[in-house]
Amino acid sequence: MERTLSIIKPDGVKRNILGDIIGRFEKHGLRVAAIKKIWMSKEEAKGFYIVHKDRPFYDSLTDFMSEGPIVVMVLEGDNAIAKNREIMGATNPANAAEGTIRKDFAENVERNIVHGSDATETAAFEIGYFFSSLEIL
Ligand code: GDP
Repeated sequence: MERTLSIIKPDGVKRNILGDIIGRFEKHGLRVAAIKKIWMSKEEAKGFYIVHKDRPFYDSLTDFMSEGPIVVMVLEGDNAIAKNREIMGATNPANAAEGTIRKDFAENVERNIVHGSDATETAAFEIGYFFSSLEIL
């Protein structure tokens, strides 16, 4: 059993497709262990994406992630980190496989609807950024 952090980004929340996205996770055997809707400040978005601080898109990405509410979730299941990323599809929707969330909904490489942790250590940091252990059930 593994846990991963999933975010429905501001573009996904605005399009009112939370149910569709969460349904895809559930259909593939992932379980929502924690969930909440929040609105990050620019500073909070910068803290979350600190690993990307030297990338040219850091400022634009953190503007986007703080432009409106997001839904943050802990997903739990066998191989949850890799499975979530498979369901999401490639970062750039132009390269995303058929049937993935990003292929179906993402506008471009930045406004790509969902986030998912990419490794065990990042999942631990990202889950702890939003949730206390008492909120994960
Ligand atoms: P992910 O793990 O698939 O989300 O991809 P990364 O960790 O590489 O990038 C984090 C996020 O930054 C992505 O989900 C995009 O929202 C954004 N991003 C990645 N690459 C680019 C890029 O080349 N340009 C812009 N504007 N945003 C990007």
